[in-house]
Amino acid sequence: MQYYDRACEQFSRRELLNIVWALGAAAIAAPVRAQAPVSRLAFRSNPFTLGIASGDPLPTGVVLWTRLAPEPLAGGGMPMVPVEVAWEVGTDPSFRSIVRSGTEIARPELGHSVHVDVEGLLPGRDYWYRFHAGSETSAAGRTRTAPAANAMAERVRFAVCGCNHFEHGFFTGYRRIAEEGFDWILHTGDYIYESGASAGGVRTHHGAELYSVADYRARYAQYKLDPDLQAAHASAPFIVTWDDHEVVNDYAGGRGGADVPPEVFALRRAAGYQAYYEAMPLRRPALPGGAGMQLHRRLAFGQLVDLHVCDTRQWRSSQACGKGWKSQCEEALDSRRTMLGTDQERWLFANLERPAGRWTLLGQQVYTFARDLGALDPAARFNMDKWDGYVAARRRLYRRLVDTRTPNPIILSGDVHQHFAADLKMDFARPESETVGVELTTTSISSNGDGTDVAPGWDRVRADNPHVKYHSARRGYIACTATPGTLRGDFMVLDRVTVPGQPTRVDASVVIENGRRGAAMQ
Ligand code: FE
Ligand code: CA
Repeated sequence: MQYYDRACEQFSRRELLNIVWALGAAAIAAPVRAQAPVSRLAFRSNPFTLGIASGDPLPTGVVLWTRLAPEPLAGGGMPMVPVEVAWEVGTDPSFRSIVRSGTEIARPELGHSVHVDVEGLLPGRDYWYRFHAGSETSAAGRTRTAPAANAMAERVRFAVCGCNHFEHGFFTGYRRIAEEGFDWILHTGDYIYESGASAGGVRTHHGAELYSVADYRARYAQYKLDPDLQAAHASAPFIVTWDDHEVVNDYAGGRGGADVPPEVFALRRAAGYQAYYEAMPLRRPALPGGAGMQLHRRLAFGQLVDLHVCDTRQWRSSQACGKGWKSQCEEALDSRRTMLGTDQERWLFANLERPAGRWTLLGQQVYTFARDLGALDPAARFNMDKWDGYVAARRRLYRRLVDTRTPNPIILSGDVHQHFAADLKMDFARPESETVGVELTTTSISSNGDGTDVAPGWDRVRADNPHVKYHSARRGYIACTATPGTLRGDFMVLDRVTVPGQPTRVDASVVIENGRRGAAMQ
Protein backbone atom coordinates (compact mmCIF):
# COMPACT_ATOMS: atom_id res chain seq x y z
CA MET A 1 0.00 0.00 0.00
CA GLN A 2 2.65 2.44 -1.05
CA TYR A 3 -0.02 4.89 -1.99
CA TYR A 4 -0.98 5.36 1.64
CA ASP A 5 2.64 5.79 2.68
CA ARG A 6 3.00 8.63 0.20
CA ALA A 7 -0.36 10.13 0.93
CA CYS A 8 0.17 10.16 4.72
CA GLU A 9 3.14 12.45 4.31
CA GLN A 10 1.20 14.95 2.28
CA PHE A 11 -2.29 15.08 3.69
CA SER A 12 -3.91 16.26 6.89
CA ARG A 13 -6.04 13.82 8.84
CA ARG A 14 -9.25 15.34 7.53
CA GLU A 15 -8.03 15.15 3.95
CA LEU A 16 -6.92 11.57 4.43
CA LEU A 17 -10.33 10.59 5.71
CA ASN A 18 -11.83 12.14 2.62
CA ILE A 19 -9.46 10.23 0.38
CA VAL A 20 -10.21 6.91 2.06
CA TRP A 21 -13.86 7.77 1.67
CA ALA A 22 -13.26 8.67 -1.94
CA LEU A 23 -11.35 5.54 -2.83
CA GLY A 24 -14.06 3.40 -1.28
CA ALA A 25 -13.96 -0.01 0.29
CA ALA A 26 -12.81 -1.75 -2.89
CA ALA A 27 -9.56 0.16 -3.05
CA ILE A 28 -8.80 -0.50 0.62
CA ALA A 29 -9.59 -4.20 0.45
CA ALA A 30 -7.55 -4.84 -2.70
CA PRO A 31 -4.00 -3.52 -2.38
CA VAL A 32 -3.14 -1.17 -5.23
CA ARG A 33 0.28 -1.14 -6.80
CA ALA A 34 1.96 2.22 -6.72
CA GLN A 35 0.97 4.23 -9.84
CA ALA A 36 -1.66 1.68 -10.91
CA PRO A 37 -4.56 3.84 -12.06
CA VAL A 38 -7.56 3.82 -9.80
CA SER A 39 -10.73 3.18 -11.73
CA ARG A 40 -13.36 2.85 -9.02
CA LEU A 41 -13.30 6.17 -7.22
CA ALA A 42 -16.40 7.16 -5.33
CA PHE A 43 -16.31 10.94 -5.25
CA ARG A 44 -17.92 12.91 -2.48
CA SER A 45 -18.73 15.62 -5.02
CA ASN A 46 -18.55 15.90 -8.80
CA PRO A 47 -14.89 16.27 -9.82
CA PHE A 48 -15.72 18.00 -13.14
CA THR A 49 -16.00 21.45 -11.56
CA LEU A 50 -13.76 23.06 -14.20
CA GLY A 51 -15.87 22.02 -17.13
CA ILE A 52 -14.67 20.43 -20.31
CA ALA A 53 -13.03 21.65 -23.50
CA SER A 54 -11.98 20.59 -26.95
CA GLY A 55 -9.28 22.01 -29.16
CA ASP A 56 -7.13 22.01 -32.29
CA PRO A 57 -9.62 20.40 -34.68
CA LEU A 58 -8.27 18.26 -37.53
CA PRO A 59 -10.39 16.76 -40.33
CA THR A 60 -10.62 13.47 -38.46
CA GLY A 61 -9.80 14.34 -34.87
CA VAL A 62 -9.89 16.75 -32.00
CA VAL A 63 -8.36 17.04 -28.53
CA LEU A 64 -10.67 16.63 -25.55
CA TRP A 65 -9.78 18.13 -22.19
CA THR A 66 -10.89 18.06 -18.61
CA ARG A 67 -9.29 18.18 -15.18
CA LEU A 68 -10.51 16.38 -12.08
CA ALA A 69 -10.82 18.86 -9.22
CA PRO A 70 -13.57 18.21 -6.67
CA GLU A 71 -12.07 21.03 -4.57
CA PRO A 72 -10.75 23.34 -7.28
CA LEU A 73 -9.50 26.17 -5.07
CA ALA A 74 -8.03 23.90 -2.38
CA GLY A 75 -5.35 22.09 -4.35
CA GLY A 76 -7.87 20.19 -6.46
CA GLY A 77 -8.95 17.78 -3.74
CA MET A 78 -7.79 14.64 -5.54
CA PRO A 79 -5.94 11.72 -3.98
CA MET A 80 -2.34 11.67 -5.22
CA VAL A 81 -2.80 8.63 -7.43
CA PRO A 82 -3.38 8.20 -11.17
CA VAL A 83 -7.10 7.98 -11.86
CA GLU A 84 -8.83 6.45 -14.84
CA VAL A 85 -11.22 8.70 -16.75
CA ALA A 86 -13.55 7.39 -19.44
CA TRP A 87 -14.52 9.52 -22.43
CA GLU A 88 -17.02 9.20 -25.20
CA VAL A 89 -17.82 11.00 -28.42
CA GLY A 90 -21.27 10.88 -29.98
CA THR A 91 -23.04 12.33 -32.97
CA ASP A 92 -25.89 13.83 -30.94
CA PRO A 93 -26.11 15.80 -27.69
CA SER A 94 -27.89 13.00 -25.84
CA PHE A 95 -25.24 10.39 -26.78
CA ARG A 96 -27.66 7.94 -28.35
CA SER A 97 -25.04 7.21 -30.96
CA ILE A 98 -21.49 6.93 -29.59
CA VAL A 99 -18.83 6.67 -32.29
CA ARG A 100 -15.62 6.77 -30.25
CA SER A 101 -14.83 6.04 -26.61
CA GLY A 102 -11.93 5.06 -24.41
CA THR A 103 -10.11 5.74 -21.18
CA GLU A 104 -7.29 8.08 -20.28
CA ILE A 105 -5.30 8.42 -17.07
CA ALA A 106 -5.52 11.64 -15.06
CA ARG A 107 -2.11 11.87 -13.45
CA PRO A 108 -1.17 13.73 -10.28
CA GLU A 109 1.97 15.02 -12.02
CA LEU A 110 -0.32 16.99 -14.36
CA GLY A 111 -2.87 18.13 -11.79
CA HIS A 112 -5.20 15.28 -12.80
CA SER A 113 -5.78 16.88 -16.17
CA VAL A 114 -6.79 14.74 -19.14
CA HIS A 115 -5.86 15.31 -22.80
CA VAL A 116 -7.47 12.87 -25.21
CA ASP A 117 -6.30 12.90 -28.83
CA VAL A 118 -9.42 11.51 -30.52
CA GLU A 119 -8.97 10.11 -34.02
CA GLY A 120 -11.21 8.44 -36.56
CA LEU A 121 -13.91 11.10 -36.85
CA LEU A 122 -15.46 12.44 -40.05
CA PRO A 123 -14.51 15.86 -41.50
CA GLY A 124 -16.67 18.93 -41.08
CA ARG A 125 -19.06 17.38 -38.55
CA ASP A 126 -20.44 18.34 -35.17
CA TYR A 127 -19.76 15.92 -32.32
CA TRP A 128 -20.59 15.87 -28.63
CA TYR A 129 -18.29 14.55 -25.91
CA ARG A 130 -18.24 13.94 -22.16
CA PHE A 131 -16.22 12.23 -19.46
CA HIS A 132 -16.90 9.79 -16.64
CA ALA A 133 -14.87 9.20 -13.45
CA GLY A 134 -16.17 6.82 -10.83
CA SER A 135 -19.90 7.24 -10.98
CA GLU A 136 -19.68 10.93 -11.89
CA THR A 137 -20.25 12.40 -15.34
CA SER A 138 -19.08 15.71 -16.77
CA ALA A 139 -21.09 18.25 -18.69
CA ALA A 140 -21.32 17.53 -22.40
CA GLY A 141 -19.51 19.70 -24.94
CA ARG A 142 -20.05 20.26 -28.61
CA THR A 143 -17.06 20.19 -30.90
CA ARG A 144 -16.50 20.21 -34.64
CA THR A 145 -13.91 18.65 -36.90
CA ALA A 146 -12.16 20.62 -39.64
CA PRO A 147 -13.41 20.30 -43.22
CA ALA A 148 -11.83 17.68 -45.47
CA ALA A 149 -8.29 18.65 -46.41
CA ASN A 150 -8.66 18.32 -50.17
CA ALA A 151 -11.89 20.28 -50.62
CA MET A 152 -12.67 23.99 -50.78
CA ALA A 153 -14.92 24.52 -47.77
CA GLU A 154 -17.87 26.82 -48.43
CA ARG A 155 -17.63 28.65 -45.17
CA VAL A 156 -15.64 28.64 -41.94
CA ARG A 157 -16.86 30.70 -39.02
CA PHE A 158 -14.59 31.46 -36.10
CA ALA A 159 -14.11 33.87 -33.21
CA VAL A 160 -10.97 35.72 -32.16
CA CYS A 161 -10.81 36.59 -28.47
CA GLY A 162 -8.45 37.00 -25.54
CA CYS A 163 -7.50 38.95 -22.41
CA ASN A 164 -10.08 37.87 -19.84
CA HIS A 165 -9.07 39.54 -16.56
CA PHE A 166 -11.26 38.01 -13.86
CA GLU A 167 -11.33 41.08 -11.60
CA HIS A 168 -11.96 43.66 -14.32
CA GLY A 169 -15.25 42.37 -15.62
CA PHE A 170 -17.67 39.54 -16.23
CA PHE A 171 -17.00 37.09 -19.03
CA THR A 172 -20.25 37.94 -20.83
CA GLY A 173 -18.38 37.99 -24.13
CA TYR A 174 -17.74 34.27 -23.68
CA ARG A 175 -21.45 33.66 -23.15
CA ARG A 176 -22.18 35.47 -26.43
CA ILE A 177 -19.44 33.49 -28.18
CA ALA A 178 -21.05 30.29 -26.88
CA GLU A 179 -24.42 31.38 -28.27
CA GLU A 180 -22.93 31.92 -31.73
CA GLY A 181 -21.81 28.28 -32.06
CA PHE A 182 -18.59 28.95 -34.00
CA ASP A 183 -16.60 26.30 -35.86
CA TRP A 184 -13.65 27.22 -33.63
CA ILE A 185 -12.41 29.92 -31.31
CA LEU A 186 -8.91 31.40 -31.44
CA HIS A 187 -7.66 32.63 -28.06
CA THR A 188 -4.78 35.08 -28.45
CA GLY A 189 -3.52 34.92 -24.86
CA ASP A 190 -3.84 36.42 -21.38
CA TYR A 191 -6.17 33.56 -20.44
CA ILE A 192 -5.27 34.31 -16.81
CA TYR A 193 -3.59 37.23 -15.09
CA GLU A 194 -0.87 36.55 -12.54
CA SER A 195 -1.50 39.40 -10.08
CA GLY A 196 -2.70 38.79 -6.54
CA ALA A 197 -6.09 39.78 -5.21
CA SER A 198 -6.81 43.47 -5.52
CA ALA A 199 -9.73 45.65 -4.49
CA GLY A 200 -12.02 47.63 -6.75
CA GLY A 201 -12.93 45.02 -9.36
CA VAL A 202 -16.21 43.21 -9.89
CA ARG A 203 -14.67 40.11 -8.24
CA THR A 204 -11.38 39.17 -6.63
CA HIS A 205 -8.46 36.94 -7.54
CA HIS A 206 -8.02 33.98 -5.24
CA GLY A 207 -4.64 34.23 -3.53
CA ALA A 208 -1.47 36.24 -4.01
CA GLU A 209 0.71 36.74 -7.11
CA LEU A 210 1.51 33.46 -8.85
CA TYR A 211 4.90 31.75 -8.64
CA SER A 212 4.48 28.00 -8.16
CA VAL A 213 2.69 25.35 -10.20
CA ALA A 214 0.11 25.14 -7.41
CA ASP A 215 -0.45 28.91 -7.64
CA TYR A 216 -0.97 28.93 -11.40
CA ARG A 217 -3.13 25.80 -11.23
CA ALA A 218 -5.44 27.43 -8.69
CA ARG A 219 -5.73 30.56 -10.83
CA TYR A 220 -6.74 28.55 -13.88
CA ALA A 221 -9.20 26.76 -11.64
CA GLN A 222 -10.74 30.04 -10.48
CA TYR A 223 -11.10 31.30 -14.05
CA LYS A 224 -12.46 28.00 -15.30
CA LEU A 225 -15.15 27.97 -12.62
CA ASP A 226 -16.73 30.87 -14.48
CA PRO A 227 -19.94 29.60 -16.15
CA ASP A 228 -19.60 31.88 -19.19
CA LEU A 229 -16.08 30.66 -19.90
CA GLN A 230 -17.23 27.06 -19.45
CA ALA A 231 -20.06 27.69 -21.89
CA ALA A 232 -17.64 29.02 -24.52
CA HIS A 233 -15.48 25.91 -24.19
CA ALA A 234 -18.52 23.66 -24.35
CA SER A 235 -19.68 25.39 -27.55
CA ALA A 236 -16.72 24.88 -29.89
CA PRO A 237 -13.07 23.82 -30.01
CA PHE A 238 -10.50 26.39 -28.84
CA ILE A 239 -7.21 27.03 -30.57
CA VAL A 240 -5.02 28.69 -27.98
CA THR A 241 -1.80 30.58 -27.75
CA TRP A 242 -0.50 32.55 -24.80
CA ASP A 243 0.76 36.02 -24.13
CA ASP A 244 2.70 37.35 -21.14
CA HIS A 245 0.24 37.12 -18.25
CA GLU A 246 0.19 33.32 -18.32
CA VAL A 247 3.58 33.81 -16.59
CA VAL A 248 4.19 37.48 -15.75
CA ASN A 249 3.55 40.86 -17.36
CA ASP A 250 5.93 41.76 -20.22
CA TYR A 251 8.29 38.82 -19.86
CA ALA A 252 10.47 38.24 -22.90
CA GLY A 253 11.99 34.85 -23.68
CA GLY A 254 13.96 33.82 -20.62
CA ARG A 255 13.84 37.25 -19.00
CA GLY A 256 11.20 38.00 -16.40
CA GLY A 257 12.42 41.40 -15.25
CA ALA A 258 15.70 43.27 -14.94
CA ASP A 259 16.08 42.38 -11.27
CA VAL A 260 15.31 38.64 -11.61
CA PRO A 261 18.23 36.28 -12.41
CA PRO A 262 17.30 34.31 -15.57
CA GLU A 263 18.00 30.97 -13.87
CA VAL A 264 15.50 31.90 -11.17
CA PHE A 265 12.90 33.21 -13.62
CA ALA A 266 13.20 29.91 -15.54
CA LEU A 267 11.58 28.14 -12.57
CA ARG A 268 8.60 30.49 -12.52
CA ARG A 269 8.20 30.26 -16.28
CA ALA A 270 8.28 26.46 -16.13
CA ALA A 271 5.58 26.52 -13.43
CA GLY A 272 3.39 28.77 -15.57
CA TYR A 273 3.94 26.65 -18.67
CA GLN A 274 3.06 23.42 -16.89
CA ALA A 275 -0.16 24.84 -15.51
CA TYR A 276 -1.00 26.24 -18.97
CA TYR A 277 -0.57 22.82 -20.56
CA GLU A 278 -2.67 21.25 -17.82
CA ALA A 279 -5.46 23.75 -18.40
CA MET A 280 -5.63 23.78 -22.20
CA PRO A 281 -6.91 21.36 -24.88
CA LEU A 282 -3.48 20.81 -26.45
CA ARG A 283 -1.88 17.78 -28.07
CA ARG A 284 1.05 15.88 -26.67
CA PRO A 285 3.78 17.77 -28.60
CA ALA A 286 2.91 20.79 -26.48
CA LEU A 287 3.83 18.99 -23.24
CA PRO A 288 6.45 21.31 -21.71
CA GLY A 289 9.96 20.07 -21.02
CA GLY A 290 13.42 21.41 -20.37
CA ALA A 291 13.56 23.17 -23.72
CA GLY A 292 10.27 24.99 -23.14
CA MET A 293 6.90 24.36 -24.68
CA GLN A 294 6.10 24.09 -28.36
CA LEU A 295 2.97 26.10 -29.04
CA HIS A 296 3.49 26.97 -32.70
CA ARG A 297 1.50 24.73 -34.98
CA ARG A 298 -0.42 24.75 -38.23
CA LEU A 299 -4.07 23.89 -38.71
CA ALA A 300 -5.90 23.73 -42.04
CA PHE A 301 -9.62 24.10 -42.70
CA GLY A 302 -10.07 22.53 -46.08
CA GLN A 303 -8.55 24.55 -48.88
CA LEU A 304 -10.15 27.64 -47.37
CA VAL A 305 -8.18 28.59 -44.24
CA ASP A 306 -4.51 27.91 -43.49
CA LEU A 307 -3.88 28.88 -39.85
CA HIS A 308 -0.41 29.28 -38.38
CA VAL A 309 -0.52 29.65 -34.61
CA CYS A 310 2.56 31.48 -33.34
CA ASP A 311 4.18 32.17 -29.99
CA THR A 312 5.64 35.67 -29.63
CA ARG A 313 6.69 35.39 -25.96
CA GLN A 314 8.83 32.35 -25.40
CA TRP A 315 11.63 32.94 -27.89
CA ARG A 316 11.72 36.71 -28.33
CA SER A 317 14.62 39.04 -27.64
CA SER A 318 14.19 41.32 -24.64
CA GLN A 319 12.30 44.55 -25.25
CA ALA A 320 14.56 47.23 -26.71
CA CYS A 321 15.77 50.26 -24.78
CA GLY A 322 14.46 49.07 -21.43
CA LYS A 323 10.89 48.59 -22.72
CA GLY A 324 7.95 50.98 -22.42
CA TRP A 325 7.08 53.65 -25.03
CA LYS A 326 10.06 55.11 -26.94
CA SER A 327 10.79 57.36 -29.87
CA GLN A 328 14.52 57.16 -30.43
CA CYS A 329 15.58 53.55 -29.99
CA GLU A 330 18.33 52.30 -32.28
CA GLU A 331 18.19 48.89 -30.64
CA ALA A 332 14.63 48.34 -31.92
CA LEU A 333 16.02 48.39 -35.47
CA ASP A 334 18.75 45.79 -34.81
CA SER A 335 18.35 42.96 -37.33
CA ARG A 336 19.65 40.38 -34.83
CA ARG A 337 16.59 40.91 -32.67
CA THR A 338 13.84 38.33 -32.99
CA MET A 339 10.17 38.06 -32.06
CA LEU A 340 9.59 34.41 -32.98
CA GLY A 341 13.03 32.96 -32.30
CA THR A 342 15.18 31.36 -34.98
CA ASP A 343 13.48 27.96 -35.12
CA GLN A 344 9.91 29.23 -35.14
CA GLU A 345 10.71 31.90 -37.72
CA ARG A 346 12.28 29.28 -39.96
CA TRP A 347 9.27 27.01 -39.47
CA LEU A 348 6.83 29.79 -40.34
CA PHE A 349 8.83 31.03 -43.32
CA ALA A 350 9.05 27.47 -44.71
CA ASN A 351 5.28 27.05 -44.25
CA LEU A 352 4.66 30.22 -46.23
CA GLU A 353 6.45 28.71 -49.18
CA ARG A 354 3.83 25.94 -49.23
CA PRO A 355 0.48 27.71 -48.85
CA ALA A 356 -2.46 25.45 -48.10
CA GLY A 357 -5.49 27.67 -48.24
CA ARG A 358 -7.18 30.66 -49.77
CA TRP A 359 -6.79 32.67 -46.55
CA THR A 360 -3.45 32.58 -44.73
CA LEU A 361 -4.03 33.39 -41.09
CA LEU A 362 -1.31 34.09 -38.52
CA GLY A 363 -2.72 33.82 -35.02
CA GLN A 364 -0.43 35.36 -32.42
CA GLN A 365 -0.45 37.75 -29.47
CA VAL A 366 0.90 41.25 -30.05
CA TYR A 367 -0.06 43.60 -32.86
CA THR A 368 2.36 43.83 -35.77
CA PHE A 369 1.20 47.10 -37.35
CA ALA A 370 2.83 50.40 -36.41
CA ARG A 371 0.93 52.26 -33.71
CA ASP A 372 2.38 55.73 -33.41
CA LEU A 373 1.21 57.73 -30.39
CA GLY A 374 3.81 60.47 -30.86
CA ALA A 375 1.12 63.17 -31.13
CA LEU A 376 0.34 62.57 -27.45
CA ASP A 377 3.98 62.49 -26.34
CA PRO A 378 6.80 63.03 -28.85
CA ALA A 379 9.17 61.05 -26.61
CA ALA A 380 6.89 57.99 -26.57
CA ARG A 381 5.86 57.06 -30.09
CA PHE A 382 6.07 53.27 -30.10
CA ASN A 383 5.53 50.45 -27.60
CA MET A 384 8.68 48.36 -27.34
CA ASP A 385 6.74 45.24 -26.24
CA LYS A 386 5.02 44.99 -29.63
CA TRP A 387 6.42 44.41 -33.14
CA ASP A 388 7.16 48.17 -33.15
CA GLY A 389 10.09 47.21 -30.92
CA TYR A 390 11.18 44.45 -33.32
CA VAL A 391 11.23 46.41 -36.55
CA ALA A 392 13.67 44.21 -38.47
CA ALA A 393 11.78 41.05 -37.49
CA ARG A 394 8.56 42.66 -38.70
CA ARG A 395 10.18 43.60 -42.00
CA ARG A 396 11.45 40.04 -42.45
CA LEU A 397 7.94 38.70 -41.86
CA TYR A 398 6.23 41.17 -44.19
CA ARG A 399 8.92 40.69 -46.85
CA ARG A 400 8.39 36.93 -46.63
CA LEU A 401 4.63 37.33 -47.13
CA VAL A 402 5.33 39.34 -50.28
CA ASP A 403 8.15 37.16 -51.64
CA THR A 404 6.21 33.92 -51.26
CA ARG A 405 3.06 35.52 -52.69
CA THR A 406 1.25 34.24 -49.63
CA PRO A 407 -2.48 34.04 -50.47
CA ASN A 408 -4.46 36.70 -48.60
CA PRO A 409 -2.33 37.14 -45.47
CA ILE A 410 -4.30 38.13 -42.38
CA ILE A 411 -2.69 38.55 -38.98
CA LEU A 412 -4.93 37.95 -35.96
CA SER A 413 -3.71 39.48 -32.71
CA GLY A 414 -4.90 40.57 -29.26
CA ASP A 415 -3.10 41.82 -26.13
CA VAL A 416 -3.81 45.54 -26.39
CA HIS A 417 -7.43 45.53 -25.11
CA GLN A 418 -8.69 47.45 -28.14
CA HIS A 419 -10.15 46.46 -31.48
CA PHE A 420 -8.21 47.40 -34.62
CA ALA A 421 -8.43 46.71 -38.32
CA ALA A 422 -5.27 47.80 -40.09
CA ASP A 423 -3.60 47.52 -43.47
CA LEU A 424 -0.08 46.13 -43.16
CA LYS A 425 2.40 48.37 -44.96
CA MET A 426 5.88 47.47 -46.11
CA ASP A 427 6.88 50.89 -44.76
CA PHE A 428 4.38 52.38 -42.33
CA ALA A 429 6.10 55.78 -42.58
CA ARG A 430 5.13 55.91 -46.27
CA PRO A 431 1.37 55.38 -46.68
CA GLU A 432 1.88 54.90 -50.43
CA SER A 433 4.15 51.88 -49.86
CA GLU A 434 3.04 48.36 -50.64
CA THR A 435 0.15 46.85 -48.66
CA VAL A 436 1.20 43.41 -47.48
CA GLY A 437 -2.02 42.21 -45.90
CA VAL A 438 -4.50 42.98 -43.16
CA GLU A 439 -4.40 42.73 -39.39
CA LEU A 440 -7.42 42.20 -37.17
CA THR A 441 -6.71 42.84 -33.50
CA THR A 442 -9.30 41.78 -30.96
CA THR A 443 -10.14 43.80 -27.89
CA SER A 444 -10.32 42.09 -24.50
CA ILE A 445 -13.16 39.99 -23.16
CA SER A 446 -12.99 41.87 -19.85
CA SER A 447 -9.50 43.31 -19.21
CA ASN A 448 -9.57 47.04 -18.32
CA GLY A 449 -13.28 46.84 -17.51
CA ASP A 450 -15.94 48.90 -19.27
CA GLY A 451 -14.31 50.63 -22.20
CA THR A 452 -15.03 53.68 -24.33
CA ASP A 453 -15.81 54.05 -28.01
CA VAL A 454 -12.27 55.24 -28.70
CA ALA A 455 -9.18 55.23 -26.51
CA PRO A 456 -8.42 58.60 -24.88
CA GLY A 457 -6.34 60.67 -27.30
CA TRP A 458 -7.08 58.47 -30.30
CA ASP A 459 -8.49 61.41 -32.26
CA ARG A 460 -5.14 63.20 -31.95
CA VAL A 461 -3.07 60.25 -33.24
CA ARG A 462 -5.46 59.06 -35.93
CA ALA A 463 -3.85 61.08 -38.71
CA ASP A 464 -0.43 59.60 -37.94
CA ASN A 465 -1.82 56.08 -38.39
CA PRO A 466 -3.62 56.19 -41.74
CA HIS A 467 -3.26 52.41 -42.15
CA VAL A 468 -5.61 51.89 -39.18
CA LYS A 469 -9.08 51.59 -40.66
CA TYR A 470 -11.02 50.95 -37.49
CA HIS A 471 -10.52 51.23 -33.77
CA SER A 472 -12.65 50.72 -30.65
CA ALA A 473 -11.79 50.60 -26.97
CA ARG A 474 -14.91 48.66 -25.95
CA ARG A 475 -14.80 45.03 -24.78
CA GLY A 476 -15.78 42.12 -27.02
CA TYR A 477 -14.42 39.78 -29.68
CA ILE A 478 -14.24 39.41 -33.47
CA ALA A 479 -16.67 37.10 -35.28
CA CYS A 480 -15.10 36.04 -38.59
CA THR A 481 -16.63 34.36 -41.61
CA ALA A 482 -14.36 33.03 -44.33
CA THR A 483 -15.77 32.05 -47.71
CA PRO A 484 -13.90 31.51 -50.99
CA GLY A 485 -14.67 35.09 -52.02
CA THR A 486 -14.34 37.14 -48.85
CA LEU A 487 -13.21 37.13 -45.28
CA ARG A 488 -15.50 39.18 -43.10
CA GLY A 489 -14.80 40.27 -39.53
CA ASP A 490 -17.61 41.57 -37.35
CA PHE A 491 -16.21 43.58 -34.46
CA MET A 492 -18.52 42.62 -31.61
CA VAL A 493 -18.68 44.93 -28.59
CA LEU A 494 -20.44 45.08 -25.22
CA ASP A 495 -21.11 48.45 -23.64
CA ARG A 496 -20.61 47.13 -20.11
CA VAL A 497 -18.74 44.19 -18.59
CA THR A 498 -18.96 45.39 -14.97
CA VAL A 499 -22.60 44.36 -14.94
CA PRO A 500 -23.47 40.82 -16.02
CA GLY A 501 -25.66 39.70 -18.87
CA GLN A 502 -25.15 42.53 -21.35
CA PRO A 503 -25.89 42.07 -25.07
CA THR A 504 -23.36 42.40 -27.86
CA ARG A 505 -23.68 44.53 -30.94
CA VAL A 506 -21.75 44.72 -34.21
CA ASP A 507 -19.73 47.93 -33.90
CA ALA A 508 -18.23 47.68 -37.40
CA SER A 509 -17.43 45.07 -40.02
CA VAL A 510 -14.35 44.62 -42.13
CA VAL A 511 -14.48 42.87 -45.47
CA ILE A 512 -11.38 41.57 -47.21
CA GLU A 513 -11.84 40.42 -50.77
CA ASN A 514 -9.95 37.49 -52.20
CA GLY A 515 -6.89 38.81 -54.03
CA ARG A 516 -7.11 42.36 -52.63
CA ARG A 517 -4.48 43.30 -50.07
CA GLY A 518 -6.34 45.71 -47.87
CA ALA A 519 -9.27 46.14 -45.52
CA ALA A 520 -12.57 47.78 -46.42
CA MET A 521 -14.86 48.80 -43.59
CA GLN A 522 -18.64 48.50 -43.76
FE1 FE B 1 -4.19 41.40 -21.68
CA1 CA C 1 -0.53 40.95 -22.87
